[in-house]
Amino acid sequence: MISDHDFIKSSTVPGPTKEEIRCLVLCKSQLSSQDIVVDIGCGTGGLTLEFAKRTSQVYSLDRNPEAINLTSKNLEKHGLKDRVRLICGDAKEEMDKLPDFNVLMIGGSGGDLDLLIEKGYNKLKNNGRIIITAILLETALDAIEKLKKFDMDMEVINASISRGKIIERGTMMLAENPITLVMGVKRNYH
Ligand code: SAH
Repeated sequence: MISDHDFIKSSTVPGPTKEEIRCLVLCKSQLSSQDIVVDIGCGTGGLTLEFAKRTSQVYSLDRNPEAINLTSKNLEKHGLKDRVRLICGDAKEEMDKLPDFNVLMIGGSGGDLDLLIEKGYNKLKNNGRIIITAILLETALDAIEKLKKFDMDMEVINASISRGKIIERGTMMLAENPITLVMGVKRNYH
């Protein structure tokens, strides 16, 4: 995993997703080097870079041009640029132009989660995975309801990470924001 401090950051773009959360996402994505990955809301590129280290077919979308620019810089910094196609635009429209894929990561939806999951599900290959990272309870609930409707094999994980800070008197644990991971696997025999 790439350390959080090895990313170029910007005050106007969210991310990178914290290293421990990236570990979980990558582990649950069951990524192979043949997989096609779509990362909606690439932000700083936290997850995009991790995907790109493991497969050369990554499509990363963000509607914020600054996010695309920042992800591009981070890819360049880590020598991963030729493994990712960066697309600036709203995922609602841009997703229609993509080939079918094995992994769909949704890290930002801008209020269109339902539609993004629906479009994503239709383009997902058999045994493909959808992963949604939610900082809001409502997002997690919406994602759960939607994946249920598609009869996906689901998993929901809430990750509360604290990091120890070594101070003079001992080790003080400092909490990160809890994140809910909602995941589904597409099974065609359903
Ligand atoms: N996973 C990223 C952080 C994601 S922040 C990282 O590790 O660096 C969420 C991003 O989703 C924001 O940059 C926002 O611009 C983008 N976003 C939200 N809704 C979107 C949509 N409908 N289409 C494309 N990008 C979207």
